Amino acid sequence: MNYKDYIADIPDFPQEGILFRDITPLMADGEAFHQACDEMIAFARKVGAEVIVGPESRGFIFGCPVAYELGIGFIPVRKPGKLPRETVSVSYDLEYGSNELHVHKDSIKKGQKVLIIDDLLATGGTVDATIQIVQELGGEVVGCGFLIELEGLQGREHLKDYEVFSLISYK
Ligand code: 5GP
Repeated sequence: MNYKDYIADIPDFPQEGILFRDITPLMADGEAFHQACDEMIAFARKVGAEVIVGPESRGFIFGCPVAYELGIGFIPVRKPGKLPRETVSVSYDLEYGSNELHVHKDSIKKGQKVLIIDDLLATGGTVDATIQIVQELGGEVVGCGFLIELEGLQGREHLKDYEVFSLISYK
């Protein structure tokens, strides 16, 4: 399957100069979505994932089907003010401003093998912050899986110590 046929390229979204990769056509196509999830599931099996951690909000879309198929848990990573119980958080810088991610403090068991799943790897800031939280909670990151990788932004530089999977790559 040529997955790129199901990604819409949107110039100047959400701001001028950004070429946004829109995954919603892939999600809307039953066969493409199913196959993409199956490839992520194969990676999750390979790395021996015991729990999936997914950043808000598109990490939920690909992380949950993987967790369901493997019969393991899914842990959401969320923006401030969304999770109702005590959290651990990490702040990180964006091109303009900063971002903060939270995970429930009691969500990951010590030594649990964690696979992080998100829709897209760009600069790696989001996955890097997620790894920090997982480690602070005692989890062991066994891999990071993405639907899309924007190679030019060199997010993999943050992930040299981990198994990385991406289904679609743009230079
Ligand atoms: P990073 O932190 O690696 O720079 O950016 C990755 C995060 O931003 C992911 O959580 C992803 O959902 C979002 N993101 C950044 N650019 C795009 C894009 O072009 N398309 C989509 N679908 N998500 C993006």
